[in-house]
Amino acid sequence: MKYLCLITCLGLLISCTEKKQMADLIIRGGKIYTSVEASPTVEAVAVKGDKILFAGNEQEVEKFKSAQTQIIDLQGKTMTPGFTEGHGHFFGLGYSEMSLDLAGTKNYEELTARVKEAVAKAKPGDWIVGRGWHQDRWDKKPKKLVKGFQTHELLSSVSPDNPVFLSHASGHAAFVNAKAMEIAGVNQLSKEQLQKDLGEGGEIIRDNLGNPTGIFVEHAQSLIAKHIPEDTEETLAKVFDLAMAACLRNGITSFHDAGIDRDNLLLLKKRKTEGKFKIRLYEMLSGSDRALVKEYFQKGIEVDSAHWLTVRAVKLYSDGALGSRGAWLLQPYSDRHETSGMPLMEMDSVLKISNLALASGFQVCTHAIGDRANREILDRYEIAFKKNPGHAANARFRIEHAQHIDPHDIPRFAKLGVIPAMQAIHLSSDRPWAIDRLGEKRIKEGAYMWQSLLKSGAHIVNGTDVPVEPINPIACFFASVTRQTLKGQPVGGYEPEEKMTRAQALKSYTLDAAYGAFEENIKGSIEAGKLADFTVFSQDLMTVPDEKILLTEVLMTLVGGKVRYEKK
Ligand SMILES: [Zn+2]
Repeated sequence: MKYLCLITCLGLLISCTEKKQMADLIIRGGKIYTSVEASPTVEAVAVKGDKILFAGNEQEVEKFKSAQTQIIDLQGKTMTPGFTEGHGHFFGLGYSEMSLDLAGTKNYEELTARVKEAVAKAKPGDWIVGRGWHQDRWDKKPKKLVKGFQTHELLSSVSPDNPVFLSHASGHAAFVNAKAMEIAGVNQLSKEQLQKDLGEGGEIIRDNLGNPTGIFVEHAQSLIAKHIPEDTEETLAKVFDLAMAACLRNGITSFHDAGIDRDNLLLLKKRKTEGKFKIRLYEMLSGSDRALVKEYFQKGIEVDSAHWLTVRAVKLYSDGALGSRGAWLLQPYSDRHETSGMPLMEMDSVLKISNLALASGFQVCTHAIGDRANREILDRYEIAFKKNPGHAANARFRIEHAQHIDPHDIPRFAKLGVIPAMQAIHLSSDRPWAIDRLGEKRIKEGAYMWQSLLKSGAHIVNGTDVPVEPINPIACFFASVTRQTLKGQPVGGYEPEEKMTRAQALKSYTLDAAYGAFEENIKGSIEAGKLADFTVFSQDLMTVPDEKILLTEVLMTLVGGKVRYEKK
């Protein structure tokens, strides 16, 4: 009797553990790339709850199948670990889904026509907000240019009663109409008054009579932007949902959000409590919200045990962008000798924040585009690491963009353990004109140095800087491995020795992106025990010829073992 009981108990125990091992979902029937070097591909994956139970061959996966197991047959398609957008602006993405998208506009006339359409649909006095224009991508230059930019008269003529605010593709300048300037009172203020308002790090472009032309650079944008009415909570919730949907549609399962303020963070927490998260967010606190950063440094990092919302980084800006010549260079711009760009913050503050961040376990992620900015930031990080040796080893501080680096500074990334978070798609969009800003020598030796950084041992986190570029990871993957524009120019690619291999590009969107957020042990590759986040593509991104990559479509996006998007 006693024995029988023991045997029954044992039997129960065995069947219990066996039951526990049964998969909720099995995915098979296609090529599955794992981002694991030792076993780069597998035939099948079994999922239990939100995690991967097994990754291996068709035969072995059978053990995990029960009558309740759901099966996804890939039908020959390709699956990878879920893609991570390694540097984007989550709310910016949501807003861009809601506002006038001017990214594809071919010239000033087309931009104006788009605004005219929006005005026709708007109520008098409503703000028309848009973004994404870039004067260097236009097929013809407007007749009147001041400092390389168009002037507002044509824009103002199509929207006399609605204020218009159009952000530059880089986000570092805005183009506004007369009505917006009238509301902001910009015309009435003296130059001296305005400069006082602006402080450092901003410019209102004026014609030779001193009239503002409608272009507001860097901090000057806020003179106008502060008059745009604040969003209601309903609008913000809509922005959140639109951003989530856009990520899923594009195969993005995780998102590194490069700068969040208090209000938006509160909204995220509320949406999380309401169970509205469908992809995972890694938050960088906006460094300009000093009170928020201070509060978090005292309270410490927030790592979500369910992995939806993690707050453990701070975002700083050390300079602007190349397009608006705001990037901070060691030598003057090749196409405007009187300027070398400018810093957007005191380097002493970078050091101070870095020290505090190390002590409280936060990662620092600093925007740096120009070679001067990159060097200054590496210098500050290095001083902070030396001062806090105990915390330095796994600090994983990042430089966001790291677009133009002096050759001497390239090996310093790996040496210091600093992660370059680089957006390969910027090469496709910007390289054709960036050479005007930097000249040939600097472009060749120091711009978009992916392979040199990888060879030196750095982990590259890839991404799009959405909404600066569309969030589409396929275009970015194409840029990473071809170094061409999206039109396939030039043949062979720009500085081809700096291309990533397909495997490196995949890693930069998966495992290395996870590393950039201290998450390589829970995601970024297809291995038992990791989160079941996957992206299914219409064709094999790893083997199709270069010129076919852009034809790839996202067919399905799974997050936490659930299908969250399926292409109809
Ligand atoms: Zn950004």
